[in-house]
Amino acid sequence: KLPTIYAITPTYRRFLQKAELTRMSQTLKHVKNFHWIVVEDSHEKTNLVKRFLTNCGLKYTHLSIRTPMEMRRSRNKPRWTKSRGVEQRNIALQWLRRNVKANETKGVVYFADDDNTYDIRIFEEMRGIQTVGVWPVAFTGAARWAGPVCKHGHVVGFHTNWKPFRTFPIDMAAFAINLRKLLIDRPTARFDPDVRPGFLETSFLEQVTTMEEMEPKAGNCLKVYVWHTRTETPIVNINGEKQLIKRGKPS
Ligand code: UDP
Ligand code: MN
Repeated sequence: KLPTIYAITPTYRRFLQKAELTRMSQTLKHVKNFHWIVVEDSHEKTNLVKRFLTNCGLKYTHLSIRTPMEMRRSRNKPRWTKSRGVEQRNIALQWLRRNVKANETKGVVYFADDDNTYDIRIFEEMRGIQTVGVWPVAFTGAARWAGPVCKHGHVVGFHTNWKPFRTFPIDMAAFAINLRKLLIDRPTARFDPDVRPGFLETSFLEQVTTMEEMEPKAGNCLKVYVWHTRTETPIVNINGEKQLIKRGKPS
């Protein structure tokens, strides 16, 4: 039987949310034996995401947890000042540990943010991972791509233009972990909300694996199957909308 791919996706309310989730879900529809764990950054599950998931045609689990106030980035600070999606990924891990029988289930766990672009081939690459699989991600690490450098089928180093002294200077979307390894062999591995921004991936992976153990994927890490894209926030003129309503909304 095909191993199951569990993808963990933190998401939060914004203009672009439904567009991003739609784009992503229609990519994910091409993936067999797939289970989507969507975690909202909110106290309660929202109707928008509830409705979206009910209609998306994917197998899913819907969770929610609000990032604590002190961990939230204030509006006037740049986006790299706080790590995002930390509590959300952690409760998804907790859900997996409580609800999936890792002894009887073959699978992998992938942390898939809602705004990236995924080539469906990456999912077949990750499905058979025994330890931790790795591959490049484009537009991260202040480079065209950042990720593992391989020799003779082994990871021997990493390419990045940002904080290269990190043990694992790779993006969240650059790795997937064998389910059994994550749930049974590393039962306490979690994302640390207190690490400096940019150290979330490395501090997590240090709890799970070593460079020697990593399995290079995506053509010996020579192919880009994931892009760290970010969608521009649309400019919406609130006054303009009010005027439109006064004149009668077009149907
Ligand atoms: N996210 C979240 N709460 C927030 C901001 C982001 O749950 O307040 C989610 C977001 O939907 C995405 C992930 O966390 O799935 C990473 O966020 P983002 O894409 O903004 O980070 P970046 O790619 O810039 O590191
Ligand atoms: Mn992103």
